[in-house]
Amino acid sequence: MKNVEALLVTRTDSIRKAMEILEHSGSTILLLVDSSGRLERTVTDGDLRRLLMKGASLDASLSSLPALHPTTTRDGDSAQLALEAMNLHQVDQLPVVDAENRPISVFLRREVDPQILLSSPHMGDEEISFIEAAFRSNWIAPLGPNVDAFEAELAAHVGIAAAAAVSSGTAAIHLALRLLDVGPADKVFCSTLTFVATANPILYQGAQPVFIDADRTSWNMSVPALTRAMEAHAQAGSLPKAVIVVNLYGQSADMDAITEVCDRFRVPIIEDAAESLGAYYRGQSSGTFGRLGIYSFNGNKIITTSGGGMLVSQEPALMERARFFATQARDPAPFYQHTEVGYNYRMSNVLAGIGRGQLRVLKERVEQRRAIFERYLNGCSAIPALEWMPEAVKCRSTRWLSTATISANSGVTPATLIGHLRSQQIEARHVWKPLHLQPLFAGCDYFPHRAGESISEDLFARGICLPSGSNMSIDQQNRIIRSLHEFFRRA
Ligand SMILES: *Cc1c(COP(=O)(O)O)cnc(C)c1O
Repeated sequence: MKNVEALLVTRTDSIRKAMEILEHSGSTILLLVDSSGRLERTVTDGDLRRLLMKGASLDASLSSLPALHPTTTRDGDSAQLALEAMNLHQVDQLPVVDAENRPISVFLRREVDPQILLSSPHMGDEEISFIEAAFRSNWIAPLGPNVDAFEAELAAHVGIAAAAAVSSGTAAIHLALRLLDVGPADKVFCSTLTFVATANPILYQGAQPVFIDADRTSWNMSVPALTRAMEAHAQAGSLPKAVIVVNLYGQSADMDAITEVCDRFRVPIIEDAAESLGAYYRGQSSGTFGRLGIYSFNGNKIITTSGGGMLVSQEPALMERARFFATQARDPAPFYQHTEVGYNYRMSNVLAGIGRGQLRVLKERVEQRRAIFERYLNGCSAIPALEWMPEAVKCRSTRWLSTATISANSGVTPATLIGHLRSQQIEARHVWKPLHLQPLFAGCDYFPHRAGESISEDLFARGICLPSGSNMSIDQQNRIIRSLHEFFRRA
């Protein structure tokens, strides 16, 4: 609640004074009261601007402001009621008046409306029963029936032969590299436009990442850049042990063309589908095109186990070996015997229970996220500066995150937009900073889309990710769209 004393103006005050109060109060409204202190109307920046545009001078009084019945709330009304009124009238501040219509305070949206997060967990109805079953049977410790069932159910859902449930997407990538025998001095090609988790396991194995640019149609691995990188390394006799292809923000890379190039040079593909579970390419599930694929169930992903991952493959023998590495590489002996380095990477039976429940709502979550994207698209069609991430020809994206770039000539940057949204309790983020620009990977090789054209750098410089959680309300989505309009109107 805001103290109103500082926001009061009367009709005899000048436009200049009103502007100064607005400037210094940090409020977006002033309260115009009559001689007995009753609220006549609210006054915004826009109201003052319109007076000036009609020819009023800065020293003219506010007397020419038309009468306007203000939306208010009564002293004693609940914050919930105030929030509903703000949503109904699409305002972010609401004066509170007493029985005589005298303003006594102002409700600010940020005090009554919780922060809108980028992508928060969204549970379905069945997770709890799988967890309860785990508790009842005391299958709390790693492994157990939920783990086996989750692997089988996920494999069936995406249409692949085998799956291994692990503790994170990062662990799944690490196991994939281990299964392909990636070691010190080996090279691994990797999409540059991605989260660091894609490439960290390359370093765990002591191998060298070589980063590959993105294209404009999918924002994923550039085929021309991949081709040039392969040709250069073939010539030097240093072909990579694997290519990690990332499917960003819910959309598949151009897997036909990428597979063609990798097959030509006989290099296996690991698909990082952490962000694209539920997406399709040519009607086939994203994540099932490579020799190995990985999914993540981290808290911000389209479905979550609070933390977890899955490794998938058409080769069941590979997944058997993955489970072996993920449980400390224990040899088949009557005692604990180990010949190779292993890891403690398996998913627990409790978390697998959450995963089973989440898998049942995956299709629904995809539709919800796609609908959010459509709402942004339609709601912002009058903002030409926002160019939305395209859906590539063979792709059906999940729109895990609704992302856009800001046109270069708009005069605004992602940073200023993110700051504006933050001031309204809305969490937005930059597009991933390309890995070849990260200090961690300084000195690593990088192949841009074309000589002199680095698309990932351009997408990073202009890209923005907007809140996309499937549990956002329509009011929250409208609030974000309104806030975007506000920002670009002022830009
Ligand atoms: C989330 C994510 C990962 C890592 O998954 P975790 O389960 O958090 O370890 C890997 N790659 C990409 C592209 C991701 O977005």
